Amino acid sequence: MIEISNLEFQYSDAGFRLRVPQLSISRGEKIAIVGPSGSGKTTLLMLVAGVQVAKGGTIRVGNTIISSLNDADRRRFRIANIGLVFQELELIEYLSVRENILLPYLINRAMRLDASATEAARDLAEALGMSDKLDRRPARLSQGERQRVAICRAMLTCPDVVLADEATGNLDSKTANAMLDLLLSQVDERGATLLFVTHDHSLLDRFDRTIDLAEFDVSALVAGNR
Ligand code: ADP
Ligand code: MG
Repeated sequence: MIEISNLEFQYSDAGFRLRVPQLSISRGEKIAIVGPSGSGKTTLLMLVAGVQVAKGGTIRVGNTIISSLNDADRRRFRIANIGLVFQELELIEYLSVRENILLPYLINRAMRLDASATEAARDLAEALGMSDKLDRRPARLSQGERQRVAICRAMLTCPDVVLADEATGNLDSKTANAMLDLLLSQVDERGATLLFVTHDHSLLDRFDRTIDLAEFDVSALVAGNR
């Protein structure tokens, strides 16, 4: 599903450099990504999402080699295929929960906000126990509820790939586990592939595999033998 080879990436200030010789992730795999702060976890997700662009090597997601797309095509690809959940949830405070879930449709002209989209939003909110809060503003939600809104938003377009960046980072461990349950059940239901960045090692046994970014610099061969 995701195939990275000979990836070379560097920020334009020439400081941080990420190299991933080889990484294969199967469809439906649920992967935890760990590594010290500053090791490039967020950068790797942004490369897979096509927000950042590789300087060398290839990144294939499904049948698309995103490392060779132009900016507009990468953006289209991302909207259609990638669900993103960030630690900073990027909920918009002046929008209701419903509007926050539907945000991809409100900001992308290419996506038509029709009855099936609003229905999908309602179904997701119901599955995640948020259906009675659709008209609230984010300010009146708990952190765990805000997290659920972010998950609903990420899943709304039924993405093939879900990227979560420390999505449970500021939750206590009980709430973090409950959140992960919800995310995993949504991902499983759709057969999506999940890359989940976390610092919380107590969550790791919930995943098929753990990738430690600390290994990328030192070894040419990294997890990924499927
Ligand atoms: P992690 O998520 O593992 O903590 P990041 O991927 O955010 O690490 O960052 C990896 C390195 O790249 C860090 O040294 C960080 O300072 C640097 N970095 C992150 N974003 C940028 C950017 N936009 N421009 C330049 N350097 C950056
Ligand atoms: Mg990060």
